[in-house]
Amino acid sequence: MSVCEVCGEEVAETKTCRQCGVKFCKECGYFEKHLCLDCGTAEEESLEDQVEDTLEESTEMETEKTYGEEPEQVEEIKSALE
Ligand SMILES: [Zn+2]
Ligand SMILES: [Zn+2]
Repeated sequence: MSVCEVCGEEVAETKTCRQCGVKFCKECGYFEKHLCLDCGTAEEESLEDQVEDTLEESTEMETEKTYGEEPEQVEEIKSALE
């Protein structure tokens, strides 16, 4: 038995958040990402911001120059989100 440091419940399994080090249960974070709910949500928001910024940049670049590396980066960020 482990105790979730987020909700305080005794659960069969906890993971340790790789960002803040808190032990969390299935209800309190993302097991597959090793991120608690707070850090996982923050990471998803920052990734979405990056995608938006990159898309804006690549649109601007298209009008001025030929294609840069931006479309590939967007693909990488999208696959990281999944
Ligand atoms: Zn919990
Ligand atoms: Zn965390």
